[in-house]
Amino acid sequence: MTAATAAPDPELITGSGPGADADDGTETISWADFRAWERQLASSGACTHPIRLRGRIDAIDRATGETAPVYDTASEHGGVLHVACGNRREAVCPACSAIYGPVSSDVPKVGEYLLYWLKEIVQPNLAPKTYQTYELFVRLHIDPYLGHKRLDRLQVKDIRQWLNKLASLCQCCTQGKDVARPESRRRCCAIGKCCMEVLAPWSRKDARDTLRAALTCAVEEEIISRNPVSVIRLPAPRKHKCSVWTVDEARRFLESARRDEDALYTAYVLILVLGLRKGEVLGAYLGSGRS
Ligand SMILES: [Zn+2]
Ligand SMILES: [Zn+2]
Ligand SMILES: [Zn+2]
Repeated sequence: MTAATAAPDPELITGSGPGADADDGTETISWADFRAWERQLASSGACTHPIRLRGRIDAIDRATGETAPVYDTASEHGGVLHVACGNRREAVCPACSAIYGPVSSDVPKVGEYLLYWLKEIVQPNLAPKTYQTYELFVRLHIDPYLGHKRLDRLQVKDIRQWLNKLASLCQCCTQGKDVARPESRRRCCAIGKCCMEVLAPWSRKDARDTLRAALTCAVEEEIISRNPVSVIRLPAPRKHKCSVWTVDEARRFLESARRDEDALYTAYVLILVLGLRKGEVLGAYLGSGRS
């Protein structure tokens, strides 16, 4: 059938045989045939490239061994059963891509999206310092590992593997810090003595948070349907414990500073005796200078 001219012609409406050729070369089919063809099209969801199945299913009665026909594609229009191809690409089958989820061929790579996010979302809307921090994390810790992946194919597993890698890789080696030093000043990774400068747990958490923020925007922009970073939990990094001087140590320090006529002796006293912060002491100094 090249072109179907379907009209409920009273003479053809009950017929189901092959149509008669019209004068202009097009084939005329009966209304019943047209309806059968229409039903077939609807059953495969108007798929452009349906899979054509031909055959029959018989049931065997175990007790008697008799076979009884259950289904035969001969009952379908043209003797074939049409099953939707299920292709998710719109260019291949628009009908199936609408049902099984479209895969747009222009989904960006993670690296491309991160650059766009920094330029169009972070830089114009957030503080310069925040932009600098995000840019640094993208450039050093995200893009080299995940940048090549297509955004919609990034999985939770990829993110776990990336974070584990960050916890074990020497940053000095990967960023070539020691190699960048003048030859005479190279002291570790470049001369085969890896310094094992792994990323601190806080920085690893910050790298994850950076990626999570970017992917949240990708979800909002409907490029991806969910954020794979949101399920990733990291152990809370341990707070750095600072050692505290004893009263005796503080007294010895002050005595030594006074003996040496240290210019900041008064500041030390304010800090150690009154518990002032650095900023407060500086304020006190500046204030006294002005008056
Ligand atoms: Zn299809
Ligand atoms: Zn090193
Ligand atoms: Zn190293």
